[in-house]
This record gives sequence, structure tokens and C-alpha cells, in this order.
Amino acid sequence: MTAELIRGPVVEKAIRDEIVKEVYEIREHTGKRPGFSIILVGDNPVSRTSAADKEKMAEELGYYSVVNNFPATITQEELIAVIGKYNNNKEIHAIRVQLPLPDYLDERRVIEAVDHHKEVDALHPANMGNLILGEEETYIPIAPLACFKLLQFISYDLNGKHAVVVGRSNIMGKPMSVLLLQQHATVTTCHSRTTNLSEICRMADVLVVAIGRPQLVKKDWIKPGAVVIDVGLNRVGDRVLGDVDFEEVSQKAAFITPPGDVGAMTDTMFMLNTLESFKRNL
Ligand code: NAP
Repeated sequence: MTAELIRGPVVEKAIRDEIVKEVYEIREHTGKRPGFSIILVGDNPVSRTSAADKEKMAEELGYYSVVNNFPATITQEELIAVIGKYNNNKEIHAIRVQLPLPDYLDERRVIEAVDHHKEVDALHPANMGNLILGEEETYIPIAPLACFKLLQFISYDLNGKHAVVVGRSNIMGKPMSVLLLQQHATVTTCHSRTTNLSEICRMADVLVVAIGRPQLVKKDWIKPGAVVIDVGLNRVGDRVLGDVDFEEVSQKAAFITPPGDVGAMTDTMFMLNTLESFKRNL
């Protein structure tokens, strides 16, 4: 068997086209558009590039965006005051405080200062809690949302399937497991202390891997015909490798995502959640 590819850029393009259409139509009727603010502290080149990429995408999609880069001398109180300003700004529907913050700042307190209605990364305890409760007024965190969109793209029915998620981070593995459960899959969540990891993976109809270990998952870990979503984004030399050995595993799975494709969808997922926040405010 040679797996069919689930291409992140193809799914992402379809979602972006939908966003552009929807934003245009809403602007025509209301004169309003979605807006977000990105707050950076210190001089982290990766964070800066990420913010610049989002500003560029905002222009393409018809969003309003504002980026603030503060020196690593800003106090926690000053930072929280800036967040408060955006909490009250009606043009801003999403606030991203770019992580990691410098060590002297309390990340948790800073995230909790964001109005959870505008905290579209779903790191705020209110959003995480609402996600577990299955409340609609929350957001699906960005990386699990990308995985979910990929499964939707192939019209995969999760009902009654065994889904195995490898990784239990707050940002990816845990919310992914909750989402799959809400779609009526039977879910097993694995982590670094899991024994018999390969055996458990072999039972998966759907295998989602998010561990940051290049090519750990091998062909003999895969149930024939499984769907494999590889979230891993590992730079090894000048190559981007997934957590799954793509060459081997694509010989056994029915569907597979190429290395890096999930990670490359995350900016578009941020835009999708910002649009969701905007629509709730209309
Ligand atoms: P993370 O916070 O480092 O969490 C890694 C998880 O993998 C932990 O739960 C850890 O278990 C588990 N793990 C590590 N080694 C393992 C092993 N050998 N066997 C089984 N489980 C193992 O990472 P993350 O943020 O979830 O990201 C995971 C990967 O996805 C990375 O390659 C990252 O670049 C990529 N990615 C992340 C995002 C995102 O939004 N976070 C987006 C796109 C791509 P313990 O809990 O027991 O330590």
C-alpha cells in the first residue's frame, strides 16, 4: 500500500480562500473587519519572524493587525496594562502574547490577563476548561485545529474509531485527545512514560504524533490502512523531519501528512480563530 497524501498547503489554501470570501462579504455589509494584536517582549528573532508573517497574511486576508515589540525591561504590570488596553479595543478580536516570554515575566499571569474571548490560542484556563466541557464559546488550539481540518478534508468519520495521540502537551496532545473524544473516537493518549508505545500505536485507526522526536515512529508501529497525522517539526541540518519516518510509514498507512505540513498551517488556523472571535462580536 502507498499512502495517499493529506497535503497541508492544499487544505490551507482552501481555508484561506473561504476566509477571504467571508471577510469581504462581512465588510461589504458592516464595514467591519477582523483585527488582532501581537505583543512581543525582548529580541527573539523567531518570534519576530512569526509576527511579521502574520502581519503579511493579515494584509492578504483583509484583517487589521498591530504588532508591539517591547524591550525586555517592560514590567509585568506595564505589560498587563497594555493587554488591558487591547482587551477594551473593539477593533481587536484576538490578542497573541508571543511565547516564550523572558524569564522575569510570569507567563501564566500574563496569559490570564488577556480577555479569554480574545485569547484565540486557547491557552487561557477558561478556554481550556470550556473546551473540555464542550462549550461552543471557546477556541480550538491552533495545532489540534490544523489536525482536525486535515481529517475533515478527507471526510474521515471518527465515530467509534481508535485514535492514538502520542504527546500530552497542553498546547497539542491534551486538547487533541479531547477533540477526538468529542468526535466519538476511543482515545488513547501516550507520552514519554508509556510502555509498549509501538504496540499501542499499532492499534490506532488514527495516529496523531506530536513529540518532537525525529522519525521515531516506524513502519512496524502502523496498523495497515491507518490515518497518520504527523505534527512533529524537527529541523535536522537543512531538512525538516517529522516525528514519523515518512518514507517507511507511507508504505503502510492509507493516509499520511508529509513532514512539516501541519506546522505550516498554524498561521492560517490563528486567522480562522480570529475570524471566529470577530463573528461572535458582530
Ligand atoms: P512538547 O511540549 O515538547 O511535548 C512533547 C510531548 O511528547 C510530551 O508530552 C512528551 O511526554 C512526549 N514525548 C517526548 N518524547 C517521547 C517519546 N520518546 N515517546 C513518547 N512520548 C514522548 O511539544 P509540543 O509543543 O506538543 O510539540 C510537539 C511537536 O510538534 C514538536 O516537534 C513541535 O515542533 C511540533 N509542533 C508543535 C506545534 C505547537 O503549536 N505546539 C505546532 C506545530 C508543530 P512527557 O509529557 O511525558 O514529557
